[in-house]
Amino acid sequence: MKEFETQIKDHLEERGWDNLRPSDLAKSIIIEGAELLEIFQWENLPAEKIKQNSEKIGRIKKELADVMIYCFDMAVTLDIDVLAMLNEKLIQIRNKYPINISKSSNGVEPGTEDAYWNIKNQYRGPN
Ligand SMILES: [Mg+2]
Repeated sequence: MKEFETQIKDHLEERGWDNLRPSDLAKSIIIEGAELLEIFQWENLPAEKIKQNSEKIGRIKKELADVMIYCFDMAVTLDIDVLAMLNEKLIQIRNKYPINISKSSNGVEPGTEDAYWNIKNQYRGPN
């Protein structure tokens, strides 16, 4: 991870982009995220179906890379240790969504609105 962060730092410095404002990088992350989302605008296919479409996978890879590179740009610009940040957040997510709550246990299909509210309601507890 550190090696890639160094590559990003060099990439930014070589182009004079090392002083970009974090707010502009945040906008760029969302703009590239919208380009990624546009690929799925008129469909709702499962991953297995998408994986069979190499042209679509190629477009997804390009936009996902754009998003991730801007994320790294922001982290490097703000001297954030990416691996430490991700590990810290993963621990938070694991604590917030424990397996016994997150895994479908009531016959609700994962990845659906019902599953989302099932998890949210269990996490929040009784009102
Ligand atoms: Mg793009």
